[in-house]
Amino acid sequence: MKVLVLGAGVVGTAAAYYLNRAGHEVTVIERQNAAGMETSFANGGHVSAFTARPWASPTVPRMLVKWFGREDAPYLVRLRPELRQWLWGLRFMRNCTTARHMKMARHMVRLSMDSFEALKEVREREHLDYDQRANGVLHVYRSQKALDEAAGGERVIEDPRARSEVVDMNRALAIEPALDQARQLYVGGLYFAHDETGDAHKFSTELAAAAARHGVVFNYGTTVRALVREGDRIVAVETDRGRLSADAVVLSLGAEGPLFLRPVGIDVPIYPVKGYSVTLPTEGYNGTPSVGIHDQEIRVVTSTYGGRLRAAGTAELVGYDRTITPSRADAVLRGVMQMFPSGGDASRAERWTGLRPMTPDCAPLIGRTKLSNLYLDTGHGSLGWTLACGSGRAIADLVSGKKSEIDLTGFEVDRF
Ligand SMILES: Cc1cc2nc3c(=O)[nH]c(=O)nc-3n(C[C@H](O)[C@H](O)[C@H](O)COP(=O)(O)OP(=O)(O)OC[C@H]3O[C@@H](n4cnc5c(N)ncnc54)[C@H](O)[C@@H]3O)c2cc1C
Repeated sequence: MKVLVLGAGVVGTAAAYYLNRAGHEVTVIERQNAAGMETSFANGGHVSAFTARPWASPTVPRMLVKWFGREDAPYLVRLRPELRQWLWGLRFMRNCTTARHMKMARHMVRLSMDSFEALKEVREREHLDYDQRANGVLHVYRSQKALDEAAGGERVIEDPRARSEVVDMNRALAIEPALDQARQLYVGGLYFAHDETGDAHKFSTELAAAAARHGVVFNYGTTVRALVREGDRIVAVETDRGRLSADAVVLSLGAEGPLFLRPVGIDVPIYPVKGYSVTLPTEGYNGTPSVGIHDQEIRVVTSTYGGRLRAAGTAELVGYDRTITPSRADAVLRGVMQMFPSGGDASRAERWTGLRPMTPDCAPLIGRTKLSNLYLDTGHGSLGWTLACGSGRAIADLVSGKKSEIDLTGFEVDRF
């Protein structure tokens, strides 16, 4: 079959790779000149194989109150005269109950573990090198109450491989000696020994190169303008370089996907959730961590690769505004400097922002829409890299007319 994949972020690239493996003739449409140039470019770098949890949780309302009115708040809502933002926010808050959080967490951990297996398989098969590190991720806490609560929540995860080790500061320092610089900040943490880190952008470009070697055509520098619907099918995709048609279309356009779906009668509640990262050169610095770190108080993650220390975090509801707001980026920079004062050169930090394509329950939409040849593989929110390979494998099964080998319960495209 001829398949068009729209978008070459990490999600679309993985979908294209697996569709090609399933025997389809695949063309990818991407407005940038390479894969992984937008939200997949400078993210936190965590492959949360065993820690994929929805952001919507009972801690969010508490954090919103605690940090209310502060420009450096981990979660910040800039209310706009925009009904979609309000509705999305309300739906998100409804998913913050313990019951809904736990239910979604089980689905997401299942998908992330399948996705991790797929990632390891493709990494080996295609000899991908993306500065990966397989020495785990340590979640650190600044209060015993928060640590106890988090450890309690972990008990609901059924698969023992996804359970963490609860660690005190002595053990935390044995896992990551660089934390000694900030040992007074933390009481301990949860260590997920099997999670990994790496460079999502490099992963995307390496995977795109592998897909291209196998015959996937990447039409870079091509902008999708509209989907053309006739009856219950998409008959063409309108681009700035002309019309393209295919037997099936997979949409992975990140946060902008809904803008193309609405005109063809499909309304999905994906909203852009803006985040920031800072990347510091580490040459000459001796306090750079080697394990992935997640500070649960300020919600900043760090990862280290190729002479760089990356810190990422913050969530801001501000529509499609991609401006790098100094106060927000600097909050992340301050966070990493608190954790690792001699971890890298803050004066040469590169600031970046990206829009997470987020659904109100924080889980992706994977499957066929009410249009017979239009598929969605999108809405991966804060976990797009973690979930990309599993989602790609699953969508390739569905486009091929098979039942997905990966269990897609919880990710249905019509669940909202
Ligand atoms: C600060 C931050 C930290 C994060 N940390 C992590 C992490 O540690 N681990 C993790 O797993 N995830 C993380 N994420 C989430 C992850 O980065 C995203 O979920 C993921 O990148 C989404 O991938 P995507 O392919 O859906 O979207 P994108 O990467 O945005 O890809 C969409 C593509 O579609 C293209 N496109 C859009 N519109 C058009 C058009 N009209 N025509 C042609 N092309 C178009 C874009 O150019 C883009 O390349 C983080 C995100 C942020 C912002």
